[in-house]
Amino acid sequence: MIKEHKPFAQPIYVTRPILPNLEELTEKLKEVWESKWLTNNGPQHQLLEEKLRQLLKVPYLSLFNNGTIALITACQSLRLSGDVITTPFTFPATPHVLSWNNIKPIFCDIDPNTMNIDANKIESMITPQTTGILAVHVFGTPCDVIKIQEVADRYGLKIIYDAAHAFGVEIRGEGIGNFGDISMMSFHATKLFHTAEGGALTFQDKNLKLRIDLLKNFGIKNEDEVVMPGINGKMNELQAILGLINLNYFEQEREKRKLLTETYRQCLRDVEGVSFLDDSPEVKSSYQYFVIRIHEKAFGRSRNEVYSEFKRYNIFTRKYFYPLCSDYTCYRHLPSSSPTNLPVAQEVVQQVLSLPLYGELSVSDVEKICDILKSFRRKSH
Ligand SMILES: *Cc1c(COP(=O)(O)O)cnc(C)c1O
Repeated sequence: MIKEHKPFAQPIYVTRPILPNLEELTEKLKEVWESKWLTNNGPQHQLLEEKLRQLLKVPYLSLFNNGTIALITACQSLRLSGDVITTPFTFPATPHVLSWNNIKPIFCDIDPNTMNIDANKIESMITPQTTGILAVHVFGTPCDVIKIQEVADRYGLKIIYDAAHAFGVEIRGEGIGNFGDISMMSFHATKLFHTAEGGALTFQDKNLKLRIDLLKNFGIKNEDEVVMPGINGKMNELQAILGLINLNYFEQEREKRKLLTETYRQCLRDVEGVSFLDDSPEVKSSYQYFVIRIHEKAFGRSRNEVYSEFKRYNIFTRKYFYPLCSDYTCYRHLPSSSPTNLPVAQEVVQQVLSLPLYGELSVSDVEKICDILKSFRRKSH
């Protein structure tokens, strides 16, 4: 017996941003207006930096105007050059920041379970040109930080983590921003915590704080000295107040997303041909995305078919992160981009589908999305 489902009356997108109470924002705006200080390390910026430093449990944090500029600056601050090993299964910003630093991305295959860079394969990609590793905590799932550190230590490599999806993630109570040399968080509107556009770097080294803060402000040391070729990476006061207010909302948003994620898992647990990651007891999750994998043989439909079918019900899922970065025209000529070097990534990228996940969805919305997904399945004989 097949139950008929009506499409959702309103389109259901993969995510929606936290939007704070407008009066609350107006109150804060008045403060900024009265101060007449709109950017350049203003009082709101200083306050947000300190609050985030405590929340993320990191010794040092520098705010940025977006996550991509933060990541470009991170590469500069560590003086990376030559080749850097990274993952093909990520947002375009990750390999692009290497290109913008004149660094060649070297694509390493991913782990079939976590979909993060495969720590066991990094060593085989190292050459005399390699200076660092740029790994991504994909969908907020932590990389194998211990093994990556071991490899880096053995070869004297720097580690940068793209932690854009990992806001508030902790491993055994330790803030995710404490691993590697530098971690980048993105505060883009699509992220769990946001400042419309924005980002931050976190790190352990006090000297890096000086260097990174110089680099994000044109290298200006004082009125008489410009000491390095910096960039404009500064977060402004309007972004900072949005962040300060959203700090009061994000924990509630994360709790709602946790409940919805548990609902998805419960509804989809026994569906043949659909798989997903469970929470690890050691990890506090960001619930940034809920991603399933469609196994075409067992499900009887491909991921692309499921994606298209969902649209007929007014449900707009996303094929994150399709296509692989190694298949972009600007990177596919690289030897490491060869599909034979990336068999796991090539398979995973055909399976993944991000389902809608944001606090305003109801449990019954999620149950309906799951029922609709189940109705797509074609049983084999
Ligand atoms: C969002 C995102 C970025 C870029 O951050 P912006 O703040 O949008 O510049 C980088 N890497 C990953 C994995 C992302 O999801």
